[in-house]
Amino acid sequence: MGVSVTERIGGGCLCGDIRYAISGDAQLQLFCFCAACRRRSGTDGYAGYMVKDEVFSVLQGTASVYERSSEVGRTVQLHFCGRCGSNLWGATELGLTSVAAGSLDDPELFQPDRAVFLHEAPTWARVPEGMA
Ligand SMILES: [Zn+2]
Ligand SMILES: [Zn+2]
Repeated sequence: MGVSVTERIGGGCLCGDIRYAISGDAQLQLFCFCAACRRRSGTDGYAGYMVKDEVFSVLQGTASVYERSSEVGRTVQLHFCGRCGSNLWGATELGLTSVAAGSLDDPELFQPDRAVFLHEAPTWARVPEGMA
């Protein structure tokens, strides 16, 4: 699974203030349908393109940060553009940066193979076939 990365992957927010680069393969690619992701995204859930912290770098701009404690007591820092509101990435304590797949310049790089927190998904969630 996954695309082998031979050159840097780019991404950023809608208004263009914030740009990032990824220089390594995704470790996990998933949909999360938890209530927090639903609320944050404004739709059924979240598409996470998760990479090791060390391959993720901010090229331009300063993201706004909202820090929250998860249900299991971990702290996650949610980064978003304070100007245009785009969700960009989440930094966890697990050594992985969860990049919002929709912020990738090439959204086709996202090849999810699992969905989590399905029990919190609204009935109208668009769960891909085979992941329900
Ligand atoms: Zn922006
Ligand atoms: Zn979630």
